Amino acid sequence: MNCIFCKIIAGEIPCYKVYEDDTHLAFLDISPCADGHTIVIPKKHAAAFVEMSPEEAGALFEAVNKVSNLILKKMDGITGLTIGMNTYESAGQSVMHTHAHIFPRFKGDGGGNTHTIVSSAKSADSEYLKKISEQLTK
Ligand code: 5GP
Ligand code: ZN
Repeated sequence: MNCIFCKIIAGEIPCYKVYEDDTHLAFLDISPCADGHTIVIPKKHAAAFVEMSPEEAGALFEAVNKVSNLILKKMDGITGLTIGMNTYESAGQSVMHTHAHIFPRFKGDGGGNTHTIVSSAKSADSEYLKKISEQLTK
């Protein structure tokens, strides 16, 4: 399979490893948005988070939790974390092997929060919110 992250897991492409266990690998992003920007991946290939079983998805979140705490403990000057997962092309996913980004945050680093990524909401009107809620729950 022609997957960059599977090649990293197989050792065919080098990486700067942050954490590894039997099922997950974490390594530094080659094009970091912040010092310590880390990618966490399952060793079993799945194109996107929503294509994993609930058990596999849960295990990925466990690994993300573990790596987040590791980074928080060891990274110089760190005061917070932004954690995210781009899912499918519209959300900016460029590598089709599911992965979570961990961005270390630093006081006054000038970065935004997750709300700054998307601003496509048509309305915050309560009728409109009710309509969407009904769509999602019916
Ligand atoms: P996405 O845009 O799919 O959410 O994130 C993919 C990430 O993988 C990008 O931030 C990109 O910099 C990183 N990336 C792509 N190829 C490589 C690589 O060969 N090695 C490493 N360490 N990171 C990579
Ligand atoms: Zn893969």
